Amino acid sequence: MTIPFFDGHNDTLLRLLEREGKDKVAPFVDGWPKAHIDLPRAKAAGMAGGFFAMFPPPLASTLKEVASPTGVLDRPMPPELALADAQRPTFGMAAILFQLERAGALAVCRTAADIRAAMDAERLAAIFHIEGAEAIDTDFQSFEVLYAAGLRSLGITWSRANAFGTGVPFRHNVDPDIGPGLSEAGKELVRLCDRSGVMVDLSHLNAAGFRDVAAISTKPLVATHSNVHAISPSARNLTDWQLAAIAESGGVVGLNFAAGFLRPDGKMLPDTSIEVMVRHVDGLVERLGEDGVALGSDFDGATMPAPIRDVTGVPRLLDALLAKGYGEALVRKIALENWIGVIGRTMG
Ligand code: ZN
Repeated sequence: MTIPFFDGHNDTLLRLLEREGKDKVAPFVDGWPKAHIDLPRAKAAGMAGGFFAMFPPPLASTLKEVASPTGVLDRPMPPELALADAQRPTFGMAAILFQLERAGALAVCRTAADIRAAMDAERLAAIFHIEGAEAIDTDFQSFEVLYAAGLRSLGITWSRANAFGTGVPFRHNVDPDIGPGLSEAGKELVRLCDRSGVMVDLSHLNAAGFRDVAAISTKPLVATHSNVHAISPSARNLTDWQLAAIAESGGVVGLNFAAGFLRPDGKMLPDTSIEVMVRHVDGLVERLGEDGVALGSDFDGATMPAPIRDVTGVPRLLDALLAKGYGEALVRKIALENWIGVIGRTMG
């Protein structure tokens, strides 16, 4: 039995952008063993779709350097990124997304109904997501352009500061309550997203910014790829008051598979069990209820537990939940329906 799943976060577009060579489409369509996700393996595993992140990497650095170190993460935040330096890679990743759509590999979805239609057509359903709003100017002109292109989900910050807010560093044994809240432009961005039906993603945002979004937004609160701070005390994970606020809003959290955000010791090591992933799912279900928990792998952006390895490992996690006594209906919610539900409540 293959259970279809929808994933809250991947960095596959950046992997494709940073790949040597002009053709960024064929590796995804034909198969690319070095990546965590490609089309043949996604289909074999039952991946229905996911949030395809456009993450502008720090200058003079690669995704590997910023997101896949070994050992305990203890890194300061990188410096702010200028508008043009964020827009160039963002447009590059958006171009790859639409080239993939034209090649028939996926469908860029703007509503929950679009996702169902893509599934019926056996296309991967992709949500256009930017991770950090650095590519958006504070007059919001580029917001209009990105929205018209298909943008429907936006993280205000990655793990750095920008014109709108401040992210959390990759640090362990600390609280995410680090740094100031949203700027006036950041608060305006939240209102604009609410009006436009663009999901605001709280993953990577600091606690003060989280409080501002919770106070302003009328939509369900969502963290696409974060875990339980009480189990793994990373600044990237959600404390109990944050999870309570998400629960109260009818929101959703996607389980992040990155080893360092799962393990109590914060080590980014593949020697990480599925059992610790199940512990986080238990913790999320306990705090958010059965409608509030989903998947947010961080594929192609983080060190995966060895038993998961890549997209083909997701069924092993779902099997582990079934073996733990989760009913099939609940596993199907966590795998797929909870994302489609909150996307419907946010985007339409
Ligand atoms: Zn991330």
